[in-house]
Amino acid sequence: MKKLYVVGLGPGEPAGMTYRARAALDKADVLCGYTVYTDLVAPLYPGKEVLTTPMRREIDRCRMALERAAGGDTVAMVCSGDAGVYGMACLIYQLAGEFPPVDIEIVPGVTAAVSGAAVLGAPLSHDFCVISLSDLLTPWETIEKRLRAAGEADFCIALYNPASRKRADYLRRACAILLESRSPETVCGWVRSIGRDGQTAKLLTLAQLQDETVDMFTTVFIGSSQTRALDGKMVTPRGYEAKL
Ligand code: SAH
Repeated sequence: MKKLYVVGLGPGEPAGMTYRARAALDKADVLCGYTVYTDLVAPLYPGKEVLTTPMRREIDRCRMALERAAGGDTVAMVCSGDAGVYGMACLIYQLAGEFPPVDIEIVPGVTAAVSGAAVLGAPLSHDFCVISLSDLLTPWETIEKRLRAAGEADFCIALYNPASRKRADYLRRACAILLESRSPETVCGWVRSIGRDGQTAKLLTLAQLQDETVDMFTTVFIGSSQTRALDGKMVTPRGYEAKL
């Protein structure tokens, strides 16, 4: 059966990739994806064909991958983190019907919420949710509604796509909504370029986060009411301390 792997690469460095992801890349004739991600893996496979499309050409990219797989090549479509978390996995399934049958295998990867949490400490040890601040595909009203609900439900929140050049003040707006239900002292953190050159991280309060400048290579963490800063690490207790 013709094969298309949709591979989550993890945050960036080869050591953060799963064995299964590496095995899928080994088997592929063609590596396909957004340049930033193919650049992460192309050096591991100097001989392999690499197909890229620029940012925002996601539909073209998926069609290209499906077309090559339908034509008989084993293709690995690569995404950062997990391919099913704001990645290409859904689009591959949605477009697959346009092409002759191809066996699609989704290979999970370590998503930024999880790899970033490990840098900060253990912020996601209790219930958490993930919200993207990008309104390219989601109306801003929906994002606000989810932020408000997550704030009220006291989830620890991982924010993806916290800013871009056109969305410079979105994090500020998100913090203002969260401050309706959370204390300004809530422990927060961000991690930039997880697993890549120049990785940086910072712990700060929700009040400070509101004035922080972050970019699209950053994942932001907002603690629940239980989250603590312990020795410079962001920690959300699970409740074991009641049993100590
Ligand atoms: N599929 C990816 C998410 C893609 S959405 C995953 O599962 O991780 C893009 C957003 O993910 C970025 O704006 C950022 O918020 C986050 N992100 C992805 N990789 C990251 C990294 N290496 N360092 C920090 N944030 C990252």
